Order: sequence, then structure tokens, then C-alpha cells
Amino acid sequence: MCGFVGIVGRQDCAADILLGLQALQHRGQDAAGVGTVHKGSFPIKRRSGLVAQNFGPEEIEQLPGVAGIGHVRYPTLGSGTLRDAQPFFFRQPGVLMAHNGNFISVRHMQEYLADESVHLMSRCDMEPVLCIFSLELMRIRRKNHTVDDALIALRNTFRHAQGAYSLVGTLVLDGEESLMAVRDPLGIRPAVWGRRNGSIIVASESVALDALNAKLEGDIPPGDLMVFRPDGSVEQHNIHPGKSTPCIFEYIYFARPDSIMNGASVYGVRLELGRKLARSWKTKGLQADVVIPVPDTSRPSANALAEELGLPFREGFIKNRYTGRTFIMQTAERTDALRLKLNPIRSEFTSRSVLLVDDSIVRGSTLQRTIQLVRDQGVRAVHLAIHSPPVVHPCYYDIDMSTYEELAAPAFRSSPREEPPTQKDHQEIEERLAAQLGVDSLTYLPLSGLKSAFTHTCCAACFDGNYPLPISDEARKWIETDRNTCRTATGYQQNLIL
Ligand code: SF4
Repeated sequence: MCGFVGIVGRQDCAADILLGLQALQHRGQDAAGVGTVHKGSFPIKRRSGLVAQNFGPEEIEQLPGVAGIGHVRYPTLGSGTLRDAQPFFFRQPGVLMAHNGNFISVRHMQEYLADESVHLMSRCDMEPVLCIFSLELMRIRRKNHTVDDALIALRNTFRHAQGAYSLVGTLVLDGEESLMAVRDPLGIRPAVWGRRNGSIIVASESVALDALNAKLEGDIPPGDLMVFRPDGSVEQHNIHPGKSTPCIFEYIYFARPDSIMNGASVYGVRLELGRKLARSWKTKGLQADVVIPVPDTSRPSANALAEELGLPFREGFIKNRYTGRTFIMQTAERTDALRLKLNPIRSEFTSRSVLLVDDSIVRGSTLQRTIQLVRDQGVRAVHLAIHSPPVVHPCYYDIDMSTYEELAAPAFRSSPREEPPTQKDHQEIEERLAAQLGVDSLTYLPLSGLKSAFTHTCCAACFDGNYPLPISDEARKWIETDRNTCRTATGYQQNLIL
């Protein structure tokens, strides 16, 4: 998961790109970069770490241009080092590109480019796509490229580049510094666009448009290329026929609650998940004194659940937002690290039966330590409610969600079941997970309940194994190996969902 912003208009855009990126900082904290196109040159600045700490007036001054793109990086393929930071640049004919997603055919693209004697400088899956697109453009003509050229080049590029992605690029088309945005045919990864005072802004989430006081115009349609010009004109072309199947996990965990994605409010979805979860919990006839969210994502659902159950809602944890990365540590040290990040308010727990609400169960390791922390406060009982079913399959579309071996709930993991799990299956899994995590009861929202919060179809492959974009065993193994290499090389597991 990464975030990007692209802007084109009549004024220099670097400062606004940086503002937009700050609104998307939750999508990646390892590196940030901005590149612009200006009178035939393509200045780029890329830095490790956070946007606000690494970009200032000096960088903005060195990034003139009315069209540009920026990126915040969360590595899911390639390392977390500056070498893999985006945007990437290709000299001929001069293209900058950045993306959010995973190209599952990255190995094929690397081999294809090796046959073309094109040498890659990084392990990031954006670079081969940019190289192939640039080569395709140069095959059409050497300069003076048009939108039609870009369309043909993209169609040829996506014969090699399959995956879940949204991408932005900037280049000169029809003699104008232009911005382009493309979304995969299934629209798995998000991308929106909007306008402000004659400028056009493209971003991974609408919160970047809000930060820039821009009006949201809509999503980049799945499978489409959109080209934006400095005069505010817009062209839309289909590259592949598409069917919208956005990632359901964006709504459960990743996206900011104040974002609008695929026409749905993330906050509104989380409230609805809380109401549905309350109904599941009610059927069990359990009792609790208070509802407490595990910060931060589950706060809206915990609030709605408390309202539905008529129980008091309390903050039980204070999150320290300044702890930075969680480095790999010995077990005892990790426990302390959690305490540093999440400190309980003892008075909200002591002698009470608490209903904790969290967003998801992936590995379960952080949740297990959180529950121990709660037990240490002298609670009478700990009940756990989760606003999604347990993750039982890894994601190969950009979310670093462990391997099968690391997942807390291995049920149904060998293959997608023909039949959906029964009530009894859910009950067995809940009891098993409750014992594993050390809670008195565990209730999760089953997939049918989760899906019913949406009016559109979503990718839910990490819950049911139905990957909407087919992926070969070879590609799966390659991605898992690359992720493990990335974790080992960078020495931390900040990006792994725990
Ligand atoms: S597998 Fe899960 S995390 Fe990955 S894109 Fe699909 S819903 Fe999102």
C-alpha cells in the first residue's frame, strides 16, 4: 500500500503535491518523492522518511513546473530503501511515474527488459512498467507524442504488466505538460480525481483533495486512462474492459475514515460494520459493562456497536503517535514496545467486563499482547468483537499480510471452499481464536455480514481465497520470497500487518 498525488494546472505544483502527500502519510512512511516536468527537464527529489520532516522550501524551489507527481512509499515489493522510492523517471522520451499496488507479473517484466538490454536500477515493480511504457512510446515515434500514442503504448505495456494498481504519470503529450492516471481493470486499488481553481488533482484517497480544498469529481474508472491538461480539460479512454472489484480491506483498516472511496464513505462503512457486529454479539446473550475500541481504526465501529447495544463507550487506551518504527526485537522487548505505543487507562478496565472492538485478525500477535495488557488491569472479563472475519489467505495485491503459516486462523486455507462456512463453522473458529488470544469470548463479523455493508462487489480474497485476478503459484512464491527478503534486508517489520 502506497499513496500518490498528481497535479496539473497553471501554477507550480510541488508545494501542493507535498501538502496532499502529508494527508496520505498513513499509506506509507518509508520514503517520499516528488517529481515535476518543467520546460523539458524533470527535477525529482526523493527522501527516506516522512514528508514533513524531509521536504521544505528548498526542495519546493528546486521543483518548478505546472505538472508533477508525488508518492509516499510502503514497500510490498522491493526494499524500503531510497533505491526503490518513487517516482521513477525514464529519460526517453521523458516520463515520470508512481503507483500504488502490486504488479504480479513483475518477474516476467524483468526478464522481458533483460532481453531488451534495459537495466533496472531498483527492485520496485513500478520501474519495469515505466521502462516498458517508455520503450513502447519510443517505438511509435521518437518525439512529439500524442494522447493516442500514450494509449497504444499503455495497451502494449499492460500485455506484460498485470496486477492490482493505480498509477499516475507526467509527460509531454501533444506539446503540453500533461498528467495521466490509470487504474487496473478491476479497480482493486483506489484512485480519485478532483478540481481546484483550474488545477486538476489525482490522488489515492479523497482526503488529499480535502487537504488541498479541491472538489472531488469521482474515481478513476477501472481499466481507464484519464489524461489531464493544464487548461483543465480531461480525456478518458478505456484500456481494458473493467469490472469494479475494489479492495474491501481499505474500508476495514487502511483508508482514512474521512475518505470517500468508490462512492462510499469509509467512516459510514465502519459505522455500519459496528451495527452489524452488535447484532451478531446480541444473539450470544453475553453481558459487558463498557465498549472500548483498540485504537484507532475500530473507533467508529465500536461507537456504533455501543450505541446499538445501549452500552457506554469509553477510551481505554492512549496511543503514542511518536514511537516510529517497531524494530524486530526479542519477545520481552516487543512487549515493552507495545506498552510504549498503547498505554491502558487502568480505571476504565479494573473490575469491569469489557467488550474490546478491533478491526481485523491477521497474525493475532499484537492483539494477544493487547489482551494481556488488558488482563493486567484487573478486568473481570474480556470479550472481543472484530468488525471483519479472520484473514485466512495472504494478499498478493499490495497489502503485506503474512504468509499462510503466519496467519492466526488457518481454517479453510488450503483452497476456497465451494460452500460458505456455516454458523457452526464460525462458532468453532471463534472458540478456537478466543482460546488462542486469551479472551472470554470472541465474535467476528462473518463475510456475508461484511459484504452486506456494501452496495458494490469487492475483492475479499484474503477472507475467502477467491482472487479476482488469477495469480500463478510461481508468482505467489516469488512475491512471498521478495517480501521475506525485504523484511530481512530492512531489519524491521513495520509494514507487516500484525
Ligand atoms: S486480498 Fe484482501 S487485502 Fe488484498 S486486495 Fe483483496 S481484499 Fe484487499
